[in-house]
Amino acid sequence: LVVPSWTQFCNRIKDIYVKCKPISDGKVADYIPQLSRFDPNLWGVSICTIDGQRASWGDSKIPFCVQSVSKAFNYSLAASDLGADMVHHFVGQEPSGRLFNDICLDTNNKPHNPMVNSGAIIVSSLIKNTWNMADRFDHMLTEYRKIAGGEFVGFNNAVFLSERATADRNFALSYYMKENKCFPEETKNLSEALDFYFQLCSMEVTCETAAVMAATLANGGVCPITEERCIASRPCRDVLSLMNSCGMYDYSGQFAFHVGLPAKSGVSGLLIVVIPNLVGIALWSPPLDKMGNSCRGVAFCKELINNFNFHTYDNM
Ligand code: GLU
Repeated sequence: LVVPSWTQFCNRIKDIYVKCKPISDGKVADYIPQLSRFDPNLWGVSICTIDGQRASWGDSKIPFCVQSVSKAFNYSLAASDLGADMVHHFVGQEPSGRLFNDICLDTNNKPHNPMVNSGAIIVSSLIKNTWNMADRFDHMLTEYRKIAGGEFVGFNNAVFLSERATADRNFALSYYMKENKCFPEETKNLSEALDFYFQLCSMEVTCETAAVMAATLANGGVCPITEERCIASRPCRDVLSLMNSCGMYDYSGQFAFHVGLPAKSGVSGLLIVVIPNLVGIALWSPPLDKMGNSCRGVAFCKELINNFNFHTYDNM
C-alpha cells in the first residue's frame, strides 16, 4: 500500500477539509445561469490513491461540469492519440502571462499552451477531426469514463447551450486563430470546432469521479481502479508539466511556488491536484477568487502542504 496508515492519513485530510469549510470568500461564477445557481456552501473533497484506496468528505456525489479541467484531459488524450510532436506543432508549452481567454498568440503565432482557451480550442480541433461530431463526442465520453474507471461521467446540455449562447470571446479568439492559420486543415467549420470545445467543458463529473481521473494522472496514465492504460506515459508526464506551470490561471506561478504540485482548476469550482505516484485529489467548491480558482480548493492545497511534505521540493 502506498499509504500504509490509511485511517490516520484520512483523519488528517478530514481535519483540513473541516478547517476550510467556514471559508466564505469568493464569488460563484455567474457568466451563465447554470453555474450561478450553485450554493456557495457546497464543499466536497475526494481522494484516490494509485493503488485504489479511496475516501470522500462533504458534497462528493453532486454532479457539476468540468469546465477548464477538461483541458488537461483533452490534451493528454490528443497527445496519446497523435503524439506530442504533432500536438505541439499547433500549440506551445509556455505560460502566457495573460488572462485565460486573452486574444493573443506566441511569437510563432501559436497559442501559448493547451491550458488557455486558445490552446484548448486548437487541441480539441485535433481530436478525431476526420470523424463526424456525434462520433467525436461519443469517443470523448468513452475516454473520460475510462479515465474515471467507469465512475459517473455525464453531459450537461443546458451548460453547453449557455456556453454556446455567450461565446463571443471564444468566437473572437477562434477567428483570430483562423486568420493566423492556427487550425489544422481538417477544421472547416469554426462553429463546429467551438461546439466540440464547449461540449467537453460541459461534461459532468462528481468529486468522486474527478479524484479517480486525477489518480489516473498520478499513476502515469493507468486507471488505478481498472488497471487500464488510458493515457500514454509520455503525454501523462507532459500534462503534469503543463498543469504545474499553467494549470491555475494567473495564479499558476504562485501555486507552483507555494504548493509545488501539478493542478488544474475550472470555473465550476473544481480543482484537481496530482501527487505523482501517490494520490489524485479532487476539490470542489463553487466560490472563486479573483484569479478564477476555487477559494476553498486553494486554501485546502496550502493547508495540505503545511501538514505534509508533498511539495515537489520538500525533503531536499
Ligand atoms: N467555458 C469556459 C470558457 O471557455 C471555460 C471556463 C473555465 O473553466 O476556465 O470560457
